[in-house]
Amino acid sequence: MFRILTFITALTLLFGCQETQKSTENQDSRSNEKPEAPIQQEFAIVIHGGAGTIKKEHMSDSLETVYNAKLKEAITTGHDILKNGGTALEAVTATINVMEDSPLFNAGKGAVFTNEETNEMDASIMEGESLNAGAVAGVTRIKNPINLALAVMEDSPHVMLSGKGAETFAKGQGFELVDPSYFYTENRFQSLQRIKEKEKTELDHDAKVSASFDPSAKDYKFGTVGCVALDKNGNLAAGTSTGGMTNKRWNRIGDSPIIGAGTYANNATCGVSSTGWGEYFIRGMVAHDISAMIEYGGKTLQEASQTVIQEKLSALGGDGGIVALDKYGNVSMEFNTEGMYRAYMNDKGELTIKMYKD
Ligand code: ASP
Repeated sequence: MFRILTFITALTLLFGCQETQKSTENQDSRSNEKPEAPIQQEFAIVIHGGAGTIKKEHMSDSLETVYNAKLKEAITTGHDILKNGGTALEAVTATINVMEDSPLFNAGKGAVFTNEETNEMDASIMEGESLNAGAVAGVTRIKNPINLALAVMEDSPHVMLSGKGAETFAKGQGFELVDPSYFYTENRFQSLQRIKEKEKTELDHDAKVSASFDPSAKDYKFGTVGCVALDKNGNLAAGTSTGGMTNKRWNRIGDSPIIGAGTYANNATCGVSSTGWGEYFIRGMVAHDISAMIEYGGKTLQEASQTVIQEKLSALGGDGGIVALDKYGNVSMEFNTEGMYRAYMNDKGELTIKMYKD
């Protein structure tokens, strides 16, 4: 009897091992077929501080240090919120607030000047679970435009408010309106003066208009800020805030407050925040196009971002970049300019900060 039992046990062990081996082989062959298997991050966050002619040779060591420190402060703010179980929306808003309060970026405090020497700001935010969104355009007295975009989303029946009306709504929501002089920074003001000087030397009107939006011009800099976060509940959110483009006129509005162009988030695909020459991002519906390539084209986030920025946007003649996270926490930071201020942090707290091409 004992012998029979031993024999049965030995047989069971033998076949059990073979099964385990088979299933490992299957897993191996599956992973060979699909090498880009999604990484599942419990939570993740990515930010940009604008794309443009950001080159090592134009950057002093001390300025580089200052940018690195501010990007780190911003992303850590959002990361802490996510780590402690906060929502993607909370992380996006708080992270963008840090950059809006810094004169280093073209958003909030550091907003660029319009042709009329004023500051007009745009912002938008979107939540990937509900596809709810809020945006403001052309506001002049809101210290943190991303907060007002959030209020539009949460406390109004609308998606986008502009100008004076947006500020009346803000007052009703208890926002403190700051004096427009809060947004004066000498650096941005001098950039406008240099562009205006350049304009004076241009003879023909069309050339004048395009000179104001020529990203190769010396003073032309993007500097919009944006953030995408994935929280522990698997929700994505994206937000973007900007002063627009130096020397803009006629109440020009760029892509940043346009849902689908400057900002997009959908839990089924990805979250995206754009920065760059806004007119092209609107025409290309850049943020939504990346999501659509994932949803309808079965592309990975990286494939979709690369195609949209390097091929489609470039073919239109536009430049700039995006930061994005997909629903698994995979990241993309794609741009076709010389550089883009950017940072990414995963659930292990591993941080990447970059500004140049490599
Ligand atoms: N996209 C912004 C705009 O066109 C500018 C930027 O990203 O710096 O208003």
